[in-house]
Amino acid sequence: MTVDPKYYIHPEDRSALETLKAFPGFQQLLKAFMKEWSEKYSRMVHMSGCVRISEEQMPEYYEMLKEVCEQLGIEVPELYMERNVVPNAYTSGDTKPFIVMTTGLVDILPKELIPTILAHECGHIACHHVLYRTMGAMLLNGTISALSILIPFGAIVSLPLELAFYNWMRASEYSADRAAILCDGTPDKMIEVCMRLAGYDQKEVSEEAKAAFMRQAEEYEVQAKDSARSKSIEFLLLRRRTHPFTAIRALECERWASSDSYRRILDGTYVEEEMMEFVPSEKETETAEKEEKKKGGLFDFDLPGIELPKVDLPKVDLPRIDLGSLWKKKEEPEEAVDLTPVYRQLRELKELVKEGVITEEDYEAKKKKLLDL
Ligand SMILES: [Zn+2]
Repeated sequence: MTVDPKYYIHPEDRSALETLKAFPGFQQLLKAFMKEWSEKYSRMVHMSGCVRISEEQMPEYYEMLKEVCEQLGIEVPELYMERNVVPNAYTSGDTKPFIVMTTGLVDILPKELIPTILAHECGHIACHHVLYRTMGAMLLNGTISALSILIPFGAIVSLPLELAFYNWMRASEYSADRAAILCDGTPDKMIEVCMRLAGYDQKEVSEEAKAAFMRQAEEYEVQAKDSARSKSIEFLLLRRRTHPFTAIRALECERWASSDSYRRILDGTYVEEEMMEFVPSEKETETAEKEEKKKGGLFDFDLPGIELPKVDLPKVDLPRIDLGSLWKKKEEPEEAVDLTPVYRQLRELKELVKEGVITEEDYEAKKKKLLDL
């Protein structure tokens, strides 16, 4: 049974993405990124220095990937193994996303958890996170040096925009974790992945150990919210992280798996509601209310001695950004146009390239035209 991602996308993912897309400068940033970044080049980098997993190379992982893709209803993407001691997995690209796992990751995880990792990464693809996450990763982790020569990203990315990007990237992790839970049919494996990433050794993870990890996360949660100062510390710890804390991710997995929304997905009752507006669960309503209260600022607390980027949407009054000669229309007020339909069209064109109907050059020409470059 393939579940439409709209039923499992985390409400914080949805609202953080809306906030991000409405941010002044975001659409320009997207446009600049699409102009200079090359999906093909990114793939070539991996093709040249990693192992492309297939029916011939490490077929065991390829079989796992195919199964997960079928469950999530997506095309099988390319999968690479990268020699890197840091345990990591990521998905990159846009029209033809690809997944990368590091050797450090497969070294620390038992084999039965690899499908969970692949389901998480495929969840990012199913939820259409990949383009923005690729952009975010390149912009925020300092690997953008090559593109920085071409685009004055420093002039476009304001601190509030940067924080909004991190905020959404963290929230999107929860949706991908949910995709993994759906594929596994249990939150246990995702919780174990979190424990292993947090430092659990090679030994078997017992039920008692899992319960203790949950208690540890709950204790953290209480301490992080017990005062304005604690909230400030949490903000400082989190603000430039692309992933939520592993203990909190595990706790969120457990909570969702005991929610009404999850139950309704499993028993298929969401199908009957497909034509209706999706009714959020009690917890989701709570989260939505929390988000509502946050309107007027990304963070609902003050940091002593530090001026927080209070963002009053949509009336953000950021310093005027001089984009130099990069923008032909710099005198015009900032565009609030949502470019999503254009990217959808580009995706369709990319499909035509794959089918050989049009050439890569035709695609590039059309892309330039559509993006008004
Ligand atoms: Zn992820």
